[in-house]
Amino acid sequence: MANKCLSCEFKITARNQLCDDYRDPAKAYGCPACGTFYLLPATNRSWRRRFIIFLALVSFNVALSAVFSFVSVSSMWLEAGLVALLVVVILVFLALRSVTLVDSGYRSDQYHE
Ligand SMILES: [Zn+2]
Repeated sequence: MANKCLSCEFKITARNQLCDDYRDPAKAYGCPACGTFYLLPATNRSWRRRFIIFLALVSFNVALSAVFSFVSVSSMWLEAGLVALLVVVILVFLALRSVTLVDSGYRSDQYHE
């Protein structure tokens, strides 16, 4: 997993990341180029986010079905196409979206001015 440093745009990877204290989340993931530390996005929340996206998709589909059932029965293929398009758009959006790093406020001792 590579993340771009927010302050110097250095590409932080698993190989070059700084880790001053693995037990402290604020000191466990840092940029080796400028010493800025970041909080890693919580991985245990990702399943919940996926579930919420799934729920949103299902509810959107139900709402769309309700709308189209009023318009015409033959527009089922149009509806299916729209839902497929929406799924593709969401997947592309999720794939392109990079992980947002949060500055932990901690700076490595090596990089004091
Ligand atoms: Zn940096």
